Amino acid sequence: MKLIYIIIIMLHIFIIIIIVFIIMVLIIFYLMHDTLYIKKICNNLEYFTYGSSKPDNKTVLILGGIHGNEPAGSRAIIKLMNDINTNEISIKNKLILIPYVNYCALQLNVRALSSIGDINRKFPINKDYDDEELHPIIKKILIFIKEADIVIDFHEGWGFYKNNNGSIGSTITPSNTQNSLNYANVLYNSLNNNIIDNNKKFTILVNDTNLINTDKNKYGKSYDIKHTLIYYVNLINKDYLLIETSGQNNVQDIDIRIAQARLIIDNFL
Ligand SMILES: [Zn+2]
Repeated sequence: MKLIYIIIIMLHIFIIIIIVFIIMVLIIFYLMHDTLYIKKICNNLEYFTYGSSKPDNKTVLILGGIHGNEPAGSRAIIKLMNDINTNEISIKNKLILIPYVNYCALQLNVRALSSIGDINRKFPINKDYDDEELHPIIKKILIFIKEADIVIDFHEGWGFYKNNNGSIGSTITPSNTQNSLNYANVLYNSLNNNIIDNNKKFTILVNDTNLINTDKNKYGKSYDIKHTLIYYVNLINKDYLLIETSGQNNVQDIDIRIAQARLIIDNFL
C-alpha cells in the first residue's frame, strides 16, 4: 500500500516537473522571438529618396534622430516629406532622407538604447574600415554618405551655446571643407535673422583659430570626438553640417526647433 502511495506521489512530481519544463521552454521561445523582432526593427534604417541625381544638381543626405531624445530634425524631415508628397514644394536636388536613424530610441525618447549603444560613437576612425565590424545602421549610412555630395546631420543640445554653460545647442559645425564653411555662413545669417534674443543666436564652430579670432561672436571652437559622424566625414573630406538646435528636455518649444531645422533644409532643396 505504502509503495503505491510513493509511486503516485512520484508520478505527480514528475508530471509537475514536465509541465514546468514546457512552460519554461515556451517563455524562453517567446522572449527570444520578441528580442529578435525588436532587434530587427531597431536595426532597420528606413530611407526615402526624392528627385534624381543629374550633372547640375546635388545629392543631399539628411539625417534625423541619431540620438533618440533629439527629435526636431526627424519631425522637420517628416514635415518636408509631407510637403513634397502633397506638391506644396518642388525640389531641384536629389534628396536622401533618413528621418529616424535611431528609430527605437526616438520612440522611447532616450539618447540611445542600452542594447545598441550610442549610434554616434560607432563610426569608423579610419578610411579603410572593416565592413564586418560595423553596426548594421552605420553600414547603411556609410553607403548613403558615399553617394551624397553633402550631409546634414540634425542633433539637439540641452542648452544655448552663447550662455557659455558647456552646451553646444544652437550651433552649426561644418566639416573642414570650404563648401561646408560657406553653407554654414549662409545658414548663420538666415537662422539668426529670425532670432531676437542674442543668447539664443547660432554660432559656427570651427577648428580655424584665425576665423575665431576674426569674429568671436560668430565663430567658436569645435572639438571632434572619435567615432562620431563628423570625425569620419572630416577624414574623407566630405561636405557636411552638424546642426545642434537647442531642444533636449524641451529647453525650447518644439515648433521653434522644427522651424529652424526646416529653414536649414529648405536651403538644400
Ligand atoms: Zn545628438
